[in-house]
Amino acid sequence: MSKAPMFGLNVPQSEAVTYLDGPCLVLAGAGSGKTRVITQKIAHLIEDRGYDPRTIAALTFTNKAALEMQERIAKLLKQPRQAKQLTVSTFHSLGVKILRQEANGVGLKDRFSIIDSDDCGSLIQDLAITTDKQIVRRIQTDISLWKNGLIDPVLALQQARDEDQAQSARIYASYVATLSAYQAVDFDDLIRLPVELFRNNEPIRDKWQRRLRYLLMDEYQDTNTCQYELVKLMVTGLGKKPMFTAVGDDDQAIYAWRGASVENLKTLQTDFPDLAVIKLEQNYRSTTRILQAANAVIGNNPKLFEKSLWSEHGLGEPIKVLGMANDDQEAEQVAIMISADHFERKNKWSDYAILYRGNHQARVIEQCLRKERIPYTISGGQSFFDKAEIKDIISYLRLLANTDDDPAFIRAVTTPRRGVGQSTLETLGTFSGQWQCSLFEAVFKGGIEALLAEKQLRPLREFCNFINDLEARASRPGPGGSGDNAAQVLDDLLEAINYESYLYDMFDERAAQSKWQNVLEFTNWLKERGRGGKDRDGDEKNVLELTQMVALMSMLEGQDEDPDAVRMSTLHASKGLEYPHVFLVGVEEGILPHKGDADAPAEQIAARVQEERRLMYVGITRAQRTLHISWCKKRKRAGELVHCDPSRFIKEMALDVGTAVPTESEVLTPKERLARMKELLATPKA
Ligand code: ATP
Ligand code: MG
Repeated sequence: MSKAPMFGLNVPQSEAVTYLDGPCLVLAGAGSGKTRVITQKIAHLIEDRGYDPRTIAALTFTNKAALEMQERIAKLLKQPRQAKQLTVSTFHSLGVKILRQEANGVGLKDRFSIIDSDDCGSLIQDLAITTDKQIVRRIQTDISLWKNGLIDPVLALQQARDEDQAQSARIYASYVATLSAYQAVDFDDLIRLPVELFRNNEPIRDKWQRRLRYLLMDEYQDTNTCQYELVKLMVTGLGKKPMFTAVGDDDQAIYAWRGASVENLKTLQTDFPDLAVIKLEQNYRSTTRILQAANAVIGNNPKLFEKSLWSEHGLGEPIKVLGMANDDQEAEQVAIMISADHFERKNKWSDYAILYRGNHQARVIEQCLRKERIPYTISGGQSFFDKAEIKDIISYLRLLANTDDDPAFIRAVTTPRRGVGQSTLETLGTFSGQWQCSLFEAVFKGGIEALLAEKQLRPLREFCNFINDLEARASRPGPGGSGDNAAQVLDDLLEAINYESYLYDMFDERAAQSKWQNVLEFTNWLKERGRGGKDRDGDEKNVLELTQMVALMSMLEGQDEDPDAVRMSTLHASKGLEYPHVFLVGVEEGILPHKGDADAPAEQIAARVQEERRLMYVGITRAQRTLHISWCKKRKRAGELVHCDPSRFIKEMALDVGTAVPTESEVLTPKERLARMKELLATPKA
């Protein structure tokens, strides 16, 4: 006998929210309210079951999703401030939280650095003595997959299939050793090290388990072995029933290339035999036509779990497929269509999203949006934090936090140039290697005078003293308790290194100006977080904490969003989100599905196409009301126009691919184009 569902939930959703007899898995298609179940369940635990918010943790896929979830929960609580006491974060942020408190337990000092994927790449490049980017990328991927699979260098070498992998495994060993010498961790370590810690140190594991009464996980299909292991270690033990709710959709698993395994959904049933599996079937997001298309596409993949999806939103407008002559026209027409539709229907700009497979597709679209004066934001592209000028400033902050961070040392000491040359750094590097100390320490170590002339040593020592002074100020107990505030330290830093003049010396005026603007934007952003203003925990942060936080802003995050702007996003970064009107562009063979290695074994190719199909499914199911799909007959690749075919996925949606309009020879005036687009909007193709 089922009770009346809770307010705003249907019967199975309500069941999932109130189920507390043991572990629970909600397995359901897109837009069926899985994420809603998580937010409601957290509110239910606090309001109706008396859980202390500090004992509840929820894991999301991006920081942005975490922030949104926390805001939603706050709205559901009688005391919204309680939401701040929850742990709502990505796996990586949770890992940092654990490591910050338990650094010593894994052989790290408290002030460890987190190094990003670019720096890892440079390190691998040095260790492998190669400049071949493809080799570096291959080794980096191998290492990451091993780390995520909890395979250590020794085992990796034993399991190596060929000489390439053996090379990766050997570099893996020296990579681990080097990171440890830098007192640095990479992104994968943020989860791997807590796993190691919990496995080897029962008292610490017990302590964390006691703090955690309930765990919730969104997008569970994209967890990897290591993340799954961390979950298991956190929820089993202490003789308690494992208490967690995971929600996921096997049809939306799109991170196999990063080591995620959808098999984890099945493993959950084996590892937790009393797992309650709840299915949701009503979709609250999209029209029936959109759902039919999504179901038709995904129906071509083998099924892991049986699911069906229906909607009460009515049939809705037909999906439109647009064949375009080339990518310039595609971009132009999408921009014009959005513009026309925006004014015609009086919609907000933020009702529109343009989704694409790869970042490289964004540039031409961006240009057209600009031309049409359409505001837009981009996520999933090059992150603000990856810009050279921002990385320069971050290198100083990292060094302030951890002087053993050699990659940060090298970047900071040479930017701006202060008379420290390559050969000086090489000598210093060899010396520090012999003494097993960091570059920073080597500058003051006895014996270095014999190797470096006074002229070479002076700028190095001046630099180190400067960092030491700044560091002392940053950590001196000040009126607020945690030293001079981050804002002051940042301002002094920028002034002392004369960064603005450096930019004007190095770049032309326009570039320098824009870079300096970025720096100011970044420091303001940091200052706000430093004061705890915009940050969700409301705590003041010192420079060290800020630096670690910045390192976590991954490529999926994007910048703070303009509230009323068209969203441009990669399909990967669009996961979990929804938009009234979606334009899926570049839906061509070779792009979606992405062309991979054509010589790979047949089963690998099949698996890849299946993953691409799931990506298409994710794209289609972001749309609430209308969906436009476009493909081009020709597209520029590496400066050349190549012929393209419409993606097989368009046919799988049971849609007519249409003919490319207008043809290349037809050059329309802007007015004609607008008229043509209005026509297209009014007369559906499929
Ligand atoms: P995805 O698989 O894309 O992550 P999801 O299963 O997490 O989707 P949600 O994002 O939670 O789905 O919900 C999709 C939309 O449906 C949201 O706008 C949500 O507010 C709405 N929704 C969910 N459940 C209900 C309900 N019972 N009544 C009304 N609206 C609902
Ligand atoms: Mg969701």
